[in-house]
Amino acid sequence: STLPAHLQETIRRRHQVLGPGYMLMYREPVEFVSGQGAHLFDHEGNDYLDVYNNVPCVGHAHPRVVEVVSRQLAAVNTNTRYVQEALVDYAERLLATFPAGLSRLSLACSGSEANDLAMRVAKYHTGGEGIIVTRWAYHGITSEVSRFSPSLGKGSPLGPGVRLIDPPDPRLVAPGSTLAEHMRAQVRDAIEDLERHGFRLAALVTDSTYSSDGIFTDPVGYMPGVVEEVHAAGGVYIADEVQSGFARLGEEMWGFARHGVLPDIVTMGKPMGNGVPISGVVFRPEVSDDFGRNVRYFNTFAGSSIPVAAGAAVLDVFEEENVQQRVLENGTTLRAGIEEITRESPYVAEVRGRGLYVGVEIVADRDTLAPDRGLAEDVISDMRDRRVLISGTAKAANVLKIRPPLAFTSADVTRFLETFAEVAKERL
Ligand code: PMP
Repeated sequence: STLPAHLQETIRRRHQVLGPGYMLMYREPVEFVSGQGAHLFDHEGNDYLDVYNNVPCVGHAHPRVVEVVSRQLAAVNTNTRYVQEALVDYAERLLATFPAGLSRLSLACSGSEANDLAMRVAKYHTGGEGIIVTRWAYHGITSEVSRFSPSLGKGSPLGPGVRLIDPPDPRLVAPGSTLAEHMRAQVRDAIEDLERHGFRLAALVTDSTYSSDGIFTDPVGYMPGVVEEVHAAGGVYIADEVQSGFARLGEEMWGFARHGVLPDIVTMGKPMGNGVPISGVVFRPEVSDDFGRNVRYFNTFAGSSIPVAAGAAVLDVFEEENVQQRVLENGTTLRAGIEEITRESPYVAEVRGRGLYVGVEIVADRDTLAPDRGLAEDVISDMRDRRVLISGTAKAANVLKIRPPLAFTSADVTRFLETFAEVAKERL
């Protein structure tokens, strides 16, 4: 390893105290001491381009967020058992970004907690226990949510009432059928199988980017039929917007909106507070109000002054810096550039994505589509050696995950594409 001695020593000590469950990214792990925009700086002051982290959406250490949160930290932090005008203002502002009908907000601290609450409410409302998710979905870590997160692997069993469907990958559709028919039929079959085993449907949960499945943002158009099936069975549709929310996909603030459907419940997290833990669940009141009346839900940190200040500062920056428009523009050049660079490669099956989220599927052979995890890892590692940070996703970890902070500038796009072209020339 070419890592500096002090870093190797930290990694050794880390393993001692954190154990084997804590993985590090990259063959050559890295430690950062500061950040700005989409840039991260190590101990030596080297400038890395962050093309991976979605939490610092408006940019690492954004001065507005730093100022607002610092001021709140120095003033007071109270919880939701006290009147907080700022919480009400924030809830109204956030809910105004949703279509009519989605008009209740609950706060939590992580995406997992948001999905955990969403599923509790879905079960309470429907009286069902059955859950449908995609084959390699990730929705979080609580004991409930881990049971509908198949990507956690063999050591983490699924619940008995959980059924899996393919992600919306048009290549899985039988000749003569359509993606809409394929998705709808899978959901119908899953519901029937659940009912045969004594489970009524509680919810279909989908991540509007299908991030862990391998990033399947397009085509749209299949969701209305799917949601019809879910509703006909008495279930609810939960849109997990932890990845796709907050304008990640450019055209819309929320990923589900691209699909022309109205979810019953929406969950969000990661970018919501630009790094300060805050997540949320948005409901149709018809779905959530009975639960609210009959079940005490108090979440100590959630909705308290500091995370709410962070959330509001993020929305301020979205408006002031026209973040969504920039995602659209820079996302389009980013994806077009990646398509251009990989067009002739025998190892790139597809470039997928929208806005500032791009997936590049790396295969051993374009005809068989056999995944090539090793090659994907080589590309990720070569990029990292050139100080550009990306990662991988999908079951076979063969889809390059290119997902920068939304603060990515056109100069950042250029730097990324130049570096990616160099690596692609050698590897792809
Ligand atoms: N849902 C999706 C789609 C996610 O990507 C994640 C996090 N990777 C979660 C839920 C869980 O969020 P958290 O890590 O904040 O609990």
